[in-house]
Order: sequence, then structure tokens, then C-alpha cells
Amino acid sequence: MEVPPKPVVRRFAAWGFENESLRPSAQLLEWLRTVVGSGEPVPRVAPGSMAVINPADLPPLPAPTSTAAMDRLQHSRGQGLPDILRLRFGSSVHPPDAVCRPGTAAEVESVLRACDRHGVRVIPWGGGTSVTGGVNVPPGLGPTISLDLERLSGLEGLDERSHLATLGAGTMGPAVEAALAPHGFTLGHFPQSWELSTVGGWIVTRSSGQESLGYGRIEDLMAGVRVVAPAGRLDLLPLPGSAAGPELRAMVTGSEGRLGVVTSATLRVRPLPERKVVQAAFVRSWEDGLETVRELVQSGVPLTMIRLSDPAETRVALAIGLASSRWSPVVQRYLRARRIGDDACLLLYGTDGPRETIGSILSCARSVCRRHHGVIVGSGPGRHWLADRFRHPYMRDGLLDEGYATDTFETAAVWSGVEELRGAVSAAVAGALDPWGEATALLCHVSHPYRDGTSLYFTFFYRTTGDCDENVARWAAVKRSAMEAIVGAGGTISHHHGVGAWHAPWLEAEIGALGRALIADAARRMDPRGILNPQVLLDPTDRLEA
Ligand SMILES: Cc1cc2nc3c(=O)[nH]c(=O)nc-3n(C[C@H](O)[C@H](O)[C@H](O)COP(=O)(O)OP(=O)(O)OC[C@H]3O[C@@H](n4cnc5c(N)ncnc54)[C@H](O)[C@@H]3O)c2cc1C
Repeated sequence: MEVPPKPVVRRFAAWGFENESLRPSAQLLEWLRTVVGSGEPVPRVAPGSMAVINPADLPPLPAPTSTAAMDRLQHSRGQGLPDILRLRFGSSVHPPDAVCRPGTAAEVESVLRACDRHGVRVIPWGGGTSVTGGVNVPPGLGPTISLDLERLSGLEGLDERSHLATLGAGTMGPAVEAALAPHGFTLGHFPQSWELSTVGGWIVTRSSGQESLGYGRIEDLMAGVRVVAPAGRLDLLPLPGSAAGPELRAMVTGSEGRLGVVTSATLRVRPLPERKVVQAAFVRSWEDGLETVRELVQSGVPLTMIRLSDPAETRVALAIGLASSRWSPVVQRYLRARRIGDDACLLLYGTDGPRETIGSILSCARSVCRRHHGVIVGSGPGRHWLADRFRHPYMRDGLLDEGYATDTFETAAVWSGVEELRGAVSAAVAGALDPWGEATALLCHVSHPYRDGTSLYFTFFYRTTGDCDENVARWAAVKRSAMEAIVGAGGTISHHHGVGAWHAPWLEAEIGALGRALIADAARRMDPRGILNPQVLLDPTDRLEA
């Protein structure tokens, strides 16, 4: 008998889909108890029992529009830790007044015109995976709609000769690859949020995928784009190169909805690789690891991904089972035999392409690792990483059930400043919860290296209490300490999550008052009455605890 497939339903106040979950292992929980103590499980208030204020009166909108309470609740917040905490506790939830779903660029244009005429704020919604408060409706914003772009989805055109694909802005990661694969192409853009994030969201937040070393960041992949704004349409053609004044495409990437709504984009695609391989090595120390990564990148070994975990993240992956426990014991015995100690760092490196070239690329990578005293352990851990890489975010919800909060943030610096940056951030996070007498745990890895520097990606943990505001205040304290440390050490306020509402107070510290004013002027030209996403990018209000 054929079993019908389970309907795939997106989870409320959690990451991902109902048919998927990832419980934290007993060892991980034991480690957290030792480092930060035992916390109180975070409740899950049923969405049906939340008090949702009635929607404001809106003008008729020329596209399907819903005011259903559940739809509005689902569009009230993104996927940052405070979003999930607020939704689980049912506290401080401010839904938009309606969710509008235009199906064409022309409909987006008409909706924006109607909203502009009546002073209705518009928050574009791609996949709602923002971790910077980018889709949140702050209190007091006035009549607001969430502009869900899910109907602008799919492959609109494929120029096989030029390796260019035009996709609707609302196309999610799996749908992008599913549309390209039958034609023998891939985009190669795999952020960890790939299951739910969209083409338009990637572009306006300047997203970076896990294989960015080989495929490039989204700004490298975007050849052309269509943006619809209250002031009109901006159609930037796909061109292989151009000297027609300042690069407006670059202005659209990172614009976070302030310059208009991206309705479609033409992206550079590549032939599907015959094979994809990720291998693992262990280096004796973080310093050895950084030197290995720097040499791999600067000597031009054509890898598509590199990930170097610090000793703490390596210990978590190995001894505590964040990675698959099937290979952990074997690798641990091997490392003991090779006298690799507690400071060991796990290094994953991968590439793709035809079988014969993969072999020689990996052999070059292994030589570089060995030059830095690396011990190669083969493809087993890499296979597990590839298989599990989109599942890890599911663990956050299981941790909240057990009384532990976890979140991530990321930055980048030039090679000569990386160590100072990591030191400053680690010290800041370690002391961030001192006012509460609470501890944090912090893990770090490198995952987007460049010739001139690298990103640093941090994961932190703390224990939760039964009080929502208190949990959010602790998160905000860690976040503020980290941001101050990043700015002080010359790192970027975001390598790939974007600015959103939460990082906006620190934008000026990175690009200066004139830089910020330039963006504000461009936003005013495209959206004179400021109806689009007024809460993000340029508004320096501290909204970490909103
Ligand atoms: C578990 C997890 C893992 C993540 N991993 C990564 C990662 O590896 N790499 C990475 O880069 N990011 C990552 N992110 C962050 C997030 O997924 C990215 O910022 C992503 O690009 C957002 O896409 P989205 O479609 O969900 O956008 P949304 O969250 O819906 O929107 C983000 C912002 O863009 C605006 N916006 C959305 N679509 C449009 C549009 N078409 N036109 C104009 N404005 C628009 C929104 O109003 C909002 O301000 C992760 C997030 C989570 C929760």
C-alpha cells in the first residue's frame, strides 16, 4: 500500500518543519550543566491562546490579503533567539495588521502605491529567517503590512548559454536547486537557513552560503535584479561587466528593503558538479589552524568550503556529539594515538567537480595541512557534516525545552586583526552576564575565509529562567557586549546576517556618518515617505529588548 507523504508544515515559534527535529544529546546537556548550570525549561504557549490585538483599518489592497490572527502571528517575528523566546512565552508579540501576497511585480507596484498613499508601512517577508529583527514589527510603527513574497516564486528564465537563471524573489533554497537541477545547473548558494530563506532575502541581506569560498557570496552570484519601490522600478540588467557609473547592483545587495522590494533576480549558475567531497583534518592548535586556512586560501587551492572550529567547538563536536557520534570515538582514539591533545581544532575542507580534478585539489589541500602538522582523518566526518548541515538549527528548540538558550553572531576582519578580534569578543562575552552572576559558554569557527581575512562565527549559550524579559535582557547583554568588542577591535558588525534592527545602532561606527547619510539619501529617493522597513538598517534605536 502506498503511504501518502506527510504534509510538510512549518513550525510555529521554532526553526523548520514539523516532520524534523534534533534533540540535544545527553553529553551536550551534561556539558552545559557543568559550564553554565541548570536552567528552567522555556514554555510553549499555544498560539491560539495568545492575545492578538485587532488589526488597524487598512485601505483595500490590490493583492490577496489576510487578517487571520494565525497568519499575522506567523509574520510577527523572524528567527532570532529573542523572537523565539517572545513567541514561546507569548509575550510582547506585535503582529502586522495584515499579510499581503502579491503574485507579480506589477501587483507589488500597485500594493506599494496604495500603501504609500495611505501611509501604511510595508515589511517585505521572504522566508522570515532574519536573525537581526529584520521582519519584526516594532511597537508604535502604525498601520503595517507584511508583504509576503511567496507567490513570486520559481524559475522565470534560463539562459543556458550564459549560465544565467532568473528567479522570483520569493523562491526558497530547495526550490532554486530543484528548478535548476533538471537543466544540469546549480546556484551553489547554501546558507544554513537554505530550507526556508529566499532569493530576495539573500540579496538584500548580503547572504553568504557555506560554499562561498568556491561559489562566492550572493553579491558575486547576482548579475541583474528588478527592484520595485514607491518611486518606480529599477531594472538592472545582467551584464558580465560594466563601467556605467557606480555599481547600483551593489547598492541593492544589503539594502534590506529600504530601497524597494526585490521582485526577481538573474543569478549566475554553474553546471551541477559530478561529485562533492568534504574531508577532515585535525590541527594541534587554533594558531596552526588559522595558518593552514590562510595558506590554503592565499595559495589558491580551489576549495569550495573551509571550516575551522576552535578547541571548544572541536571538543563539543567530538566528545559531546554535536556531530555524528558514529565517527567520534574512532577519531578520538586515532587522535590520542597521534598525541593530538585538548587544543586540537577540527578543520573541514571541501571541493566539488569532476572526479579527476577533485583528487588533485584534495591532495594539494592535504599537503598544506601536513605542512602545519595537521592529521588527516578522511571523508567520514565530512560526509556527516554534508548530510546534517541543515539540521543543526533544529537543536535550538530542544535546548530551550531543557533550559538552555543558544544564539549565534558573526563578524570578519583582515588576517592581521583576526586574533585580536577573537580575543576581544571572547572576553566580552565571558563577562557579559556578570551583573546576573551568570556564566556563558562560547564556541567559535572560521567558515568564510578570503585572501585578505576571514569571518569568525560565534555560538553562545546561557541558562534560561522562567521570565521572558529576563531571558531577553541576558541575550541583549551578550549581544551589546559582543557588538562593542567587535567595533572596538575593527571587525565588521556583520559578515552575512545583515544589519536589520538589532545591529543598526552600530552601523555608523563601521561606515561613518557620511556613509550612513548616503544610504539614507538613496532610500529617500526610492521611498520618499519612508514606508518600507523604516525599522531596519538606518534607524539607530536600540531594539534588542523590544
Ligand atoms: C538557523 C539560521 C541559519 C542561518 N544561516 C545563514 C547563513 O549560513 N548565511 C547567511 O547569509 N544567513 C544565514 N542566516 C540568516 C538569514 O537566513 C539570512 O539573512 C537570509 O538571507 C534571509 O532570507 P529570508 O528570505 O528569510 O529573508 P527575511 O528574513 O524574510 O527578510 C530579511 C530582511 O530582508 C527584507 N526582505 C526580504 N525579502 C525581500 C525582498 N524580496 N525585497 C526587499 N526586502 C526583502 C525583509 O524585510 C527583512 O528586513 C541564518 C538564519 C537562521 C535562522
